Formats: sequence, C-alpha cells, structure tokens
Amino acid sequence: MTTAAPQAEEAVSDDGTGPVLEVSGLGVHYGRGRKRRRALHDVTLSIAPGEAVGVIGETGSGKSTLARAVLGLVPASAGSVRIAGEEVSAYGSLRRRGVIQYVFQDPLRSLDPDLTIEDSLVEPLLIQGVPRKEAVPRARTFLDRVQLAPDLLERLPGELSGGQRQRIAVARALVTEPRLVILDEPVSALDSANRVQILEILKELRASGVALVLISHDLGSVAGTADRIAVLYRGELVEAGTAHDVVRRPRHPYTRLLLGSAPTLRGRPADRAEREALRALLDA
Ligand code: ADP
Ligand code: MG
Repeated sequence: MTTAAPQAEEAVSDDGTGPVLEVSGLGVHYGRGRKRRRALHDVTLSIAPGEAVGVIGETGSGKSTLARAVLGLVPASAGSVRIAGEEVSAYGSLRRRGVIQYVFQDPLRSLDPDLTIEDSLVEPLLIQGVPRKEAVPRARTFLDRVQLAPDLLERLPGELSGGQRQRIAVARALVTEPRLVILDEPVSALDSANRVQILEILKELRASGVALVLISHDLGSVAGTADRIAVLYRGELVEAGTAHDVVRRPRHPYTRLLLGSAPTLRGRPADRAEREALRALLDA
C-alpha cells in the first residue's frame, strides 16, 4: 500500500468490504507550550460498512474533537485515521467524491441561511459534478426520505422549525449517498417528539448501507439506533461493545454512571423510568 502511488485516487485498494473508518491510536492536543492540553489520547475505533456506532460521553470528553479529527479539521498529534482505506489527509478529495459527510453539532451551522432548501440539497451533488437537471430530482427524493413535503424546497432555513432544519441537514448529508456520515449531537437540540422521529429516520436510512457515527452526551437517546457504543471519558475510550452489552453489562464505572446504575458521583444519573425505557428499547 505504501509503495509507489503515482495517482493517489487510483492507487487506493478499496473494494468496499474493509472498514469504512479506522481510527488507530489517535491523539489530539489543543494549544501550544504551557497551554497545550490533551483532548484525545490513544483512541482506536473501527467501523464496518453500514454499521451505526454511538460515541457517548459528557460535555468536554472529546466527542466533537474526534469528529473533527476524523474529518481532518484538526491535526492528529498521534495515530492515524483512514476512511475507506484512505488517510484523512485526503479528506478534501473524499468529500468531493461524497464518501464522507458531516452534520454539525449546531444545526444552524449545517445550512447556509442564504440558500433555499433546494439549493442546500443540490449543492453537494453539484460539487460532485452531477448536472443540475439530475441533481434536483435526486434532492427531492431525499426530502421524501426525511419525511418532509416538497413545498419546503423554495424556503430559506430561517423559515423552518428546528426539527425541519435538522431533517434537511440529514438529507443534505445523505444526498451524495456517502459511505459514512458523522452526526454530532443530531438530536440534542430537539424536543422529544422530533428526537424520536429523527432517530427513526436514521434507523430507516441504515437500510441503504450507510455507516453512521452518532455522537451524543446521552446514551439513552442513541442506544436504540446504534449497533455498537463507544464511551469517551476525558479524551480516552474507556469502553466499547455492542449497544446491548454496554447497556446490560457496563464494565467501566463511568458507563455505569451514565446509565445511572452507580451511586451518584457527578451530574444526575438516569432515573428508574429512563433506565427501564432504555432497556425496553434494546429488548425490542
Ligand atoms: P465534547 O464534544 O465531548 O463536548 P470537545 O471535543 O468539544 O468535547 O472538547 C474536548 C476538550 O477539548 C475540552 O476540554 C475542550 O475544552 C477542549 N477544546 C475543544 N475545542 C477546543 C479548541 N478549539 N481549542 C482549545 N481547546 C478546545
Ligand atoms: Mg461536542
């Protein structure tokens, strides 16, 4: 793989069966000199095609940093990130080809306020070189997949509700039919009805074979959608396993705390009703 690669794009051996994401020994630091702070340490995580992985941890644990490092938006101080077999230094090219997409933590940042919904949805396709005549009908089918009516196409993001905007952001991320979508806190800013609907939509989209990274500070909100859960604590992955195992048999005390089955340390543990709802979800 490391020998002669005269044309980077052609040189990649990706037959679509290997991991879509491979994070290996990843470290990230912010700041310089005495202000240098570790944000991620020795994070290793692999995601298979079509798999949904929840990345869970409290605020400041490094979740958004992991997303940024995977996207090549912050430099790694150690380790490596490969997407569909390519080092993320090639992120620009992967992005142009629509292999990876990202939904920002802040739903307002995901959409350009001056672009109509149609233009927002069509833009990633135009970047890929799809002619507008083909891009528009394709964008419309994705609007349908996130359960929104076509009359929204003419509107601006500011005229939409938070739940509608987040669905557009999801549709926009999916319109290029990427291999991997990273969603940073996709439901955190939404009310519970919209939260449930977006998670349902994501679940249905899984059928198309896209792999998802679902970042959340709330284990309960993604446990029913993710196949596997990885738990970040102060920049380190302290636990990873199937969603079922992590919820049923959490190994790390921090995971138990997130699940509310440990005595209170910091923050509010889940109450009994929430734990039962969570277990019911996993048994379904
Ligand atoms: P999370 O998304 O889990 O809330 P972040 O990845 O945003 O966590 O932050 C992880 C740590 O890195 C925190 O201590 C945060 O203060 C720090 N951090 C995040 N972004 C920056 C930045 N741009 N500059 C300096 N420190 C940062
Ligand atoms: Mg964050």
